[in-house]
Amino acid sequence: MTNLSQHICPVCGSDHFEIFFEMLEVPVFCNVLWPEQKAAQNCQKGDIKLAFCPSCGFIGNATFEPSLLDYTQAYENSLDFSPRFQNYSQSLAKRLIENHDLNNKNIIEIGCGKGEFLVLLCELGNNQGIGFDPTYVPLPEHQKVKDKITFIQDYYSDKYADYASDFLCCRHTLEHIPQPTILLENLRQAIGNRSNTAIFFEVPNGLDTFRDLAIWDIIYEHCCYFAPVSLSYAFASTGFRVQQTSDEFRGQFLCLEAVPGESTKEMSEQQIGDLQQLTADIQTFSQRFTSKVETWQSKLEYINHKDQRTVVWGAGSKGVTFLNLLKNKNQIDFIVDLNPRKQGMYVAGTGQRIVPPDFLQEYQPELILIMNPVYEQEIRQMTADMGLDAEFVCV
Ligand SMILES: [Zn+2]
Repeated sequence: MTNLSQHICPVCGSDHFEIFFEMLEVPVFCNVLWPEQKAAQNCQKGDIKLAFCPSCGFIGNATFEPSLLDYTQAYENSLDFSPRFQNYSQSLAKRLIENHDLNNKNIIEIGCGKGEFLVLLCELGNNQGIGFDPTYVPLPEHQKVKDKITFIQDYYSDKYADYASDFLCCRHTLEHIPQPTILLENLRQAIGNRSNTAIFFEVPNGLDTFRDLAIWDIIYEHCCYFAPVSLSYAFASTGFRVQQTSDEFRGQFLCLEAVPGESTKEMSEQQIGDLQQLTADIQTFSQRFTSKVETWQSKLEYINHKDQRTVVWGAGSKGVTFLNLLKNKNQIDFIVDLNPRKQGMYVAGTGQRIVPPDFLQEYQPELILIMNPVYEQEIRQMTADMGLDAEFVCV
């Protein structure tokens, strides 16, 4: 696999793929569990140098080294322990089953993680499924679906081209692949002339990060960032007819539905306008990023000065990036997460211990920093049920 260092856009091939933003020495894995604090602090680091392509809108880490990342079963990025996220997955599964008549069909999921979404699709629509993911771990609760679903602990690649399906989905995976169009080309080739095969892709929404400053989502694992215009371009140029793109989960996710079609590199008037707007966002991004980080440095200095007992809530990418970017300014020792597989582990780079919500009863924080506003309601509810009296700030 080649990296992106040649200043050539890996999506459209333009040679104007220029670096506009740097974040150096960050943990290469935000979502690997570290059972020891020292090891977490000494984890492998890498440099993020984001480049933008003004021809198609693609954003990628131009210094990305795929060899630094080895996705194993210690990789844990499941969000399914949050009721809010579960509700979202449920309603998404129902919508896809209804829109694509997914009843008694064959479904493939590329990058199925621990399999939660594939199980939902197969149970709700009585479908058969095949899930691909090198980080999949056999779970006892999957025993009951073993007649319906096969999990393959591997990356999806052209060697699996013979696995036909009526529907193919891929959530939060494409942004981890340095040459995303190669995956899409392989996929298009595997689908061949089975024109009824529909596909669904979900990625983080680049507009949320680069326009609305959800900056804690910039992580080494994500070598690619897509806005609606670049995501559509990537699929259209590799032979898919894009039916719709939509943003979901308060604008944080970007979804695309497509069917096989003819390859096209042309953009509509609307897309050309979107691309110009994105180009303007990118031009000011570095400056807006710095100013947001500086604001947080001041806030944390104030919190330290007042000696407020503070925890972060959410040990996913956002929480890990926040703690690492502000590591010289915070005196935070604990980070809360609902995922029991993360609890007791340590944060990559900075080494805070990940604790369950119950821990707060004993710790009695005065301030809770919420990493994702989507979960604010459930966090407030949970802490109110524990009788905690803390102040909340969404980061
Ligand atoms: Zn491009």
